[in-house]
Amino acid sequence: MPYPKPVLVLSACLAGDNVRYDGKPVLEPFSQELARHSEVIKVCPEVALGLGVPREKVIVYKNDSAVRLFQPAKGLELTEAMARFSEEFLNSLPEVDGFLLKSKSPSCGVSRTKVYGDPEGRLYRGTGKGLFALKVIERFPHLPVEDELRLRRRRLRLNFLVSLFSLAGVREKGHENFHREFGTVFRAYAPRVELRLRNSTSAGEYRKNLRKAILKLPPGALRELAKELVSPELLMKT
Ligand code: SF4
Repeated sequence: MPYPKPVLVLSACLAGDNVRYDGKPVLEPFSQELARHSEVIKVCPEVALGLGVPREKVIVYKNDSAVRLFQPAKGLELTEAMARFSEEFLNSLPEVDGFLLKSKSPSCGVSRTKVYGDPEGRLYRGTGKGLFALKVIERFPHLPVEDELRLRRRRLRLNFLVSLFSLAGVREKGHENFHREFGTVFRAYAPRVELRLRNSTSAGEYRKNLRKAILKLPPGALRELAKELVSPELLMKT
């Protein structure tokens, strides 16, 4: 059975490229398996800024409420350059179905990025997100954006996969065909959101409503959709 093939933006280090600050590879089997079932667009925001490999560490700090990026060893303020790169990169993308980014990174982290209260990294404040990840979430609020660490939680992983492959299904089949095939699952478990999906007048509007609808589904419904949309090899790792 042909499964949809998501267009996935993937942190280059999760794809196995040696682009981390220490030049060491990241061995993350799930990301690499998902990449095999997707059309991958790789990105390493820090290499794109010309920081090189290996490179001195970059940190996130908060100045009032603004999130900023700094390389303490070189005294290099990177916030504006990262904001410019993010905007250009995100504008250049074709229609994509989701993002899988590297946790803890000052650029890519969707979770567990260390956040400091000063640019030198002396005042630890807690954890948050990296600057590139923040720009992605701001720009694509209706797409699944996760990191590999969060996806170790089975419920989040299933939700991510169903969202990613459903969005790919809409892109490939068109929203009306997709709804004809899968609308009954939404109707059975979340009739109100199914109505909103059914009333969507364009594929763009349907895709925007789809993620919200999937977030309302119980695990049983997610599993039903996953069986139809996601290849068994990948599901076995979930
Ligand atoms: S986490 Fe992001 S910025 Fe860091 S190496 Fe991986 S892709 Fe590059």
